[in-house]
Amino acid sequence: MNGPQAALAPLDDADRKLVDGVLARQLRPLAKTITLIESQRAEHKVRAQAVLEALLPHTGGAMRVGISGVPGVGKSTFIEALGLYLIEQGLRVAVLAVDPSSSLTGGSILGDKTRMELLSQRTEAYIRPSPSAGSLGGVAEKTRETLLVCEAAGFDVIIVETVGVGQSETAVANMTDIFCLLQLPNAGDDLQGIKKGIMELADLVVVNKADIDLAATTRAQAQLKTALHMLRPASPNWSPPVLTLSALKKEGVAEFWRTVCDYRATMEKSGEFEARRRHQAQAWMWDLIDAELRSRFRRHPQVRAALGGLTAAVERGETTPSAAAQRLLQHLN
Ligand code: GDP
Repeated sequence: MNGPQAALAPLDDADRKLVDGVLARQLRPLAKTITLIESQRAEHKVRAQAVLEALLPHTGGAMRVGISGVPGVGKSTFIEALGLYLIEQGLRVAVLAVDPSSSLTGGSILGDKTRMELLSQRTEAYIRPSPSAGSLGGVAEKTRETLLVCEAAGFDVIIVETVGVGQSETAVANMTDIFCLLQLPNAGDDLQGIKKGIMELADLVVVNKADIDLAATTRAQAQLKTALHMLRPASPNWSPPVLTLSALKKEGVAEFWRTVCDYRATMEKSGEFEARRRHQAQAWMWDLIDAELRSRFRRHPQVRAALGGLTAAVERGETTPSAAAQRLLQHLN
């Protein structure tokens, strides 16, 4: 067979069962498939790709929601409240995480499913902690693939959580339809502390813990609105709103979800919803190509033989970085 389908690996019986189980919305095959995706073993990677390709026609149906904020802002409290609210609306919810700390140190900031105890007991919910092995790029990659598997398993909403540190926020914004930033009521006092780059990613900003100090919350809301106004919005059709809520008291959750649905409707009308997904899929492909090229380059025997000497020569100022780079890259020809 010719065309893009030609590279499809055949599914063996066990993997066909996994695919069927996921499509039948069974949790055990879902968990097994995600474990296969997270495996570092070469033969598992081949099988995982075959399973993913079989599932791909059944993906795309969920609303993909990214949620970020510094540790302690109330992400897990909010996601639990939101998840339970969505279940009440008759929806099924998956919660995934991209935690850079878990890949760097083996420890994790986002912790595990015990953080969302009520939600994790619901059969309409599936909570998966961040993969712990590999670079941030590797962790994000596996989370993207896990997101697709959850879509094939019929989840209506997929929440991807990350911490407000490092580059994981860009990774999550690049795999979701809407990126929401949680802030504390004192955020406005220290706008310098909010990284401009992160504000630029936000489609929606939420001031949490409004129950503690309403005046401070309202002040923070106004200051965040001003700060957002100074940025160029990503879409001409959407200015990121600033909402307030109390995750603990479950106040503002319905309004949050209404805003997410408004955003989706607006983006769908303008064609930006599908455009964002198409762009994300392309960028994802290029990320993978870049990562693979980099890894092949580093594994190349002649590059490996020359790398130490040339790096040292660049450090000592004996050769220029560009000359050294050219000499190393020549080995790939
Ligand atoms: P995460 O690290 O961002 O996941 O934050 P958590 O959800 O674990 O919340 C950190 C702490 O803030 C916990 O003690 C929560 O009970 C508390 N918290 C979360 N949301 C609220 C809220 O809306 N109001 C108040 N008063 N406390 C909250």
